[in-house]
Parts: sequence; C-alpha cells; structure tokens
Amino acid sequence: MASPLRITFLGGLGQIGRNCAALESEGRIVVLDCGQMFAGDDLPGVDSVLPDLDWLINNARRVEAVIATHAHEDHIGALPYLLRHMSLPVYGSVFTLGMVEHKLREAGLLDSADLRTINDGDRRRIGPFDCEFLPVTHSIPSGNITAFHTAQGVILHSSDFKLDLTPIDGRRTDLSRIGALAQDPGIRLLLADSTNADLPGSSRSEKEIGAVLTELLRNHAERRVIVACFASHIHRLQQVADAALATNRMLVPVGLSMLRNVKLARKVGVLRIADHMLRDAEEIGDLEPQRVCVICTGSQGEPKAALTRMARGDSRWLSVGDNDTVIFSAHPIPGNEAAVGSVRNGLARRGAKVVHSGQIDVHTSGHAQQQELKTLHSVSVPQFFVPVHGEYSHLVAHRDLALEMGMDPATVFLAEDGDQLELSDAGLRMLGSVGGEHLYVDGTVGDLGNEVLGDRHVLGNNGFVSIHVAVDLERLDLLAGPDVVSRGWVEQPALLGHEVAVADAVEEAVLRALRGSVDDRERLSKIVSKTAGSVVFERTRRRPMLVVSVREG
Ligand SMILES: [Zn+2]
Ligand SMILES: [Zn+2]
Repeated sequence: MASPLRITFLGGLGQIGRNCAALESEGRIVVLDCGQMFAGDDLPGVDSVLPDLDWLINNARRVEAVIATHAHEDHIGALPYLLRHMSLPVYGSVFTLGMVEHKLREAGLLDSADLRTINDGDRRRIGPFDCEFLPVTHSIPSGNITAFHTAQGVILHSSDFKLDLTPIDGRRTDLSRIGALAQDPGIRLLLADSTNADLPGSSRSEKEIGAVLTELLRNHAERRVIVACFASHIHRLQQVADAALATNRMLVPVGLSMLRNVKLARKVGVLRIADHMLRDAEEIGDLEPQRVCVICTGSQGEPKAALTRMARGDSRWLSVGDNDTVIFSAHPIPGNEAAVGSVRNGLARRGAKVVHSGQIDVHTSGHAQQQELKTLHSVSVPQFFVPVHGEYSHLVAHRDLALEMGMDPATVFLAEDGDQLELSDAGLRMLGSVGGEHLYVDGTVGDLGNEVLGDRHVLGNNGFVSIHVAVDLERLDLLAGPDVVSRGWVEQPALLGHEVAVADAVEEAVLRALRGSVDDRERLSKIVSKTAGSVVFERTRRRPMLVVSVREG
C-alpha cells in the first residue's frame, strides 16, 4: 500500500485571501503559500488576517519548506509571521523571491532567511515530495503551477491563474506539460483557483489593455496623465510604459511600493523601460504636463497611497488640477468600493477628469473564468478535484463546473479553511477539521483574540457605560458612588436622566445586597451588572458595553 497523502487547508477556502495549505506525506510537511488577508470595516482596528498558523507551529518540527507560488500578498503576506516561529527554506521564482526578500528585510528576518530559486520546468525534491514547477499566467510575473509527484500520484495545484494566450512576456501557461502529465502518469488530484468560477466566458488577454491605454493617452494629448494600478502588476506597468513611449511622454513612478517594484522588476528582467524614459517624482514640476505619464499606487483607495494623497491635496510631489486625467487601471476589490469612490470624488473636486474600468476596458482580471477553467479541466482530466482560492460561492460554482464537465460527484470535494483531506489507495476522503481559526493582527498591538474584537464591535456600535462603586465589606456599607459615566450610548439631554436612573437602581440593589449580608466583591459586581444592564436596556433598547468596578475602601 502506497503511503497516503494529507492536505490541510489553512486559509483561502471560503474567503478570498490568506492562502495557505499544508501537504503531508510520510510525516513530513510542505507548506504551499502563506498569505494574508486585508481586514475589512467589519473588523475594527485590525490590519490583517492571517491563516491558522497555530497548526503549523504545533507541527513545526515536521515542516520541510514553504513554496511561494507567486508574489501577491494573499500568498506571501504572512511569511514573516511564520518564519518568526520556525526557520524554513522558501522556494520561489526569482521575481517572487525578490518580493519575499523585501518583506523579510522589513521584518528583520532576512539574515536568517534561506531563499531557494526555482526556474520554469525545474524539478526539486523537497522532503518526501518530488515537486515540478510549471509557468502560469496571472496578474503578476513569474507565477508557478506546482505538480507534486507523490506515491499517491500527481497532485496539480494551479495557484492563481488565467489562460492568457498572448501574455506580455510571452511566457504562457504550460498546458502541454499538464497534458503530458495527464497522459502519463495521470493527474490524481487537481486543486484549482475558483476566484472567477462564477463568470462565464474568458478573461481578456492582458495585451488588449495596452492598446486601450495608448489610445487614451493619445486622446488626452494636451493633458498630464496619471495612471493608478497595482504596484505588483508588472505587465500593466510595462504597458503603461509602452503607451507613454508611443505618445512621447516620460514615465514617472510615484509611491514607495511602485518605485521599489519598478526597480526589482527591471533588475530581474521582467520589466523593460529605458533609463532615459524614467523620471523622478522631484522632476515633475520641471516637465511639460503633456510629456508626463505618472504611474502610481492607490487604485484601491488605500489611505496612505500616492493617489489617495493627491485626491486629498497632500501629495509631496504633485497637485492635481483641471489639466489632469486620472486613469484607474484596476477594478476595486470587493470591500474597497467606498474608499475608491471617495478618492475619485476627491480628484473630481480638484478638477481632474477621471477614467475608470467601469467605463473603458483599462483592466482585465488575473483569474480564469469559466471557459478557461473548462480548458484546464479538460487538459488535466483529474481523478479527484477540490476547488480552492475563493469565497464559498466561488468554490460551489467551480464544483458545479466540474460536475457539468462530467466528473463523478463522488470525486469532487468542497472543502473549507481548516479541513483536512486524505488521499490514499482507497481514494480521497474528508478527515475533519483542524480549526481554521483566523489570527488577527493589529499593527500597533500585535495579535488580537476574538474577545478584543468582540469588545470593539460592541464599543463601535453601542458605546459603553461604566459604573463604579466603593463598599466596606466588613461593615456592609456603601462608601461611594455609584458613579456612572458613559460614552457613545445616547445623546444629551436624555443621557443625564438615563445615567441617574442607572445610578439609583444600582444604589438600591447594592444596599439591598449589603443588608442581605452579601460580602464578596464578585457577587456584588454581578448584581451591579445585572441591575445596570436591565435599566439600560429597558430605557434605551440598546446594549452598550458595561464596565463595572466594585472596590473596597
Ligand atoms: Zn494572485
Ligand atoms: Zn491569490
């Protein structure tokens, strides 16, 4: 009997972001990606959400390495947190590792890092795994599909992908190798990106965006042009640079991550811009506006990004006015719409003309739509299939697509974060869940638990009421208070009446309890809480946080 293989999904299944999976064979583990998810407005004060790293930390001695499939934050963002707990080699392409290197340097972990470059087509033995790395097209250069040759057959992990047949760098997804693997030895299990599984048709080639951008720059020949896009979308940067060159403009990168990525991408050869075409932000004032094409961060309305500053009028480098055209060369990611809207409004208020992907095709997705997914399925003909990378509805759409293509329902599994599957001679089966808890990170405070988050929710929605009482537990006497203080509960002038009512009720309850010989603080605290809580709710129909202190003295 060949040794079974286990896969534990630690993030990315059920919500977009924080991708992380652990593959396990003969007791050894390889981690596939370790990303983070940016927190939405429903998590007050949280900067990022990490995969459930506890499971990995508990199994640290068995972990061999991490494979970084590509350099997006949702695949490499949590690496510093993981490497703080265990030192592991990280495998990735030259560009991916360039981005990882920056993250580790920022975290002060670069000295101890062990970064191992892989090239397209390479086969490496990592622990018990024989890993083969194939090129794949996506909205960042140098991503990899991983084929794990195991005792249980080939496990093919698509990572994030689209099937762009005319990619900017000519580096196509290696469908012929996938087809060859499907023939011999066959693909036992496919794990594939589901992000756009609910969209019919195919995504457009990245190359088509270049012509649209050039046309736009031409149509705004007398104006300064500012293009915002993801700083990691190097192929988009290439096309903006080409459009600038074609319309006789200098390219001016603005924003820290934009400058850093341009530098790295040029260094490793995935971005080609001639020196004489690049200008520093300091020089913008010396250039004629119609000869400038600024490329900047902020397409998602990120609060500290270059474009957001321009919209607020506090950019160090340029002030936006009525001779500027601003192109948003990215769709807002779900959850960012409001932030993007306020940046657009800020720019419009300053007189700029705003062009976005809702009006003209200045963006295409990096994720496969239904036709592309069907192509992957028909080329790989997997025996088993698990949709990965997507919100739950995307995973379901991808499952349905596989069934529509004729897969047996018994061979398609819907898994979520925390789920553990086992592939053995008997087939694929669900073992159960290892938790899949979220780990929340607040930039200034560190890791947060669910309790703090719960408190922030209550505070944010209902405010708080605090009640302080001082008692003498020997003489069973009320010494001071109750003092009632509140914030964010109700408006004045009604507030005063409510606070007095709470104080009166608490005083009566405490005196009654003391007369009844209740002489421990804990019981008194409970009585105060209960009394205050019911008065607060009866009078205002709200449940603010109650902060109760009963002290002696
Ligand atoms: Zn990606
Ligand atoms: Zn992703």
